[in-house]
Amino acid sequence: MKRLFLLGGLLAVFSLSLAAAQQPAAAAGPKTIDILKLKDNLYVLTSSTPGNAATFSGGNVAVFITDGGVTLVDDKLAGWGQAVLDKVKSVTSKPITRIINTHTHGDHTGNDNFFGTSVEIVAQDNTKANMEKMDAFKGDNAKFLPKKTYKDKLTLGSGKDRIDLYYFGAGHTNGDTFVVFPALRVLHTGDMFAWKDGPYCDLTNGGSCVALPRTLQKVIASIKDVDTIIPGHSPMQTPADLQMFQRFTADLLSHAIDANKAGKSVDDATASFKVDKYPGYKNERVKGAVQAVYDELKK
Ligand SMILES: [Zn+2]
Repeated sequence: MKRLFLLGGLLAVFSLSLAAAQQPAAAAGPKTIDILKLKDNLYVLTSSTPGNAATFSGGNVAVFITDGGVTLVDDKLAGWGQAVLDKVKSVTSKPITRIINTHTHGDHTGNDNFFGTSVEIVAQDNTKANMEKMDAFKGDNAKFLPKKTYKDKLTLGSGKDRIDLYYFGAGHTNGDTFVVFPALRVLHTGDMFAWKDGPYCDLTNGGSCVALPRTLQKVIASIKDVDTIIPGHSPMQTPADLQMFQRFTADLLSHAIDANKAGKSVDDATASFKVDKYPGYKNERVKGAVQAVYDELKK
């Protein structure tokens, strides 16, 4: 009996050390990104779900193959540049000639420097200003900042290669671009529609959970000719999904305003917000959004 117990103990120690030995190997494993074909000339680099440290590579990247070269929408976290390049090379021999940064965050702009100054980097005016405040773009790295910027709307290319960029107002930050590929009827929303959960409104970069529902309403009213939506950090969506997300953010905003007026705490306001009527929605990020509304109401 004693011997059996000892054997069991040894086995337990052995399997524990096996698990420990396997852990670093998994974490330091090769950086691989999944790729999804949306159209013959449009792919998405996924592996974009935050929280999974082993596979999270940054936001969804659109890979648009035009006659003149490849346009990327966003370029993931720093350190993933080679993995992005390898995946692009697996579907086209054309060079990457342009990167559109939907907004300032490092999981969307992390490889602007990797792709270099020969690539045209495009962003909304406020996003360029936000990027100038990031360590990644200070000093000598300022040469990787966007060279082409715009205020409300910008069209790049023409015909089947046309790309329309729109800015509709504050939400996730104060410089989020919506990218439309009109010939393909596809819209990339960046993190203005990241996931089916509470929105992340980055107040330090001009974001606003108070403005977000209004801004999304403008998007829905203005961009009608699309069938497929590439969100910031989740699987592909439809315009109906975007409309539901807009209703979700509007509902959450009015709930938070009412709770604030009633003197309720952020925790109480969060607990009483029900996500059940929104199929597929989580409440892991609702508290952050409620907190953002409370902070904005204090201003
Ligand atoms: Zn973001």
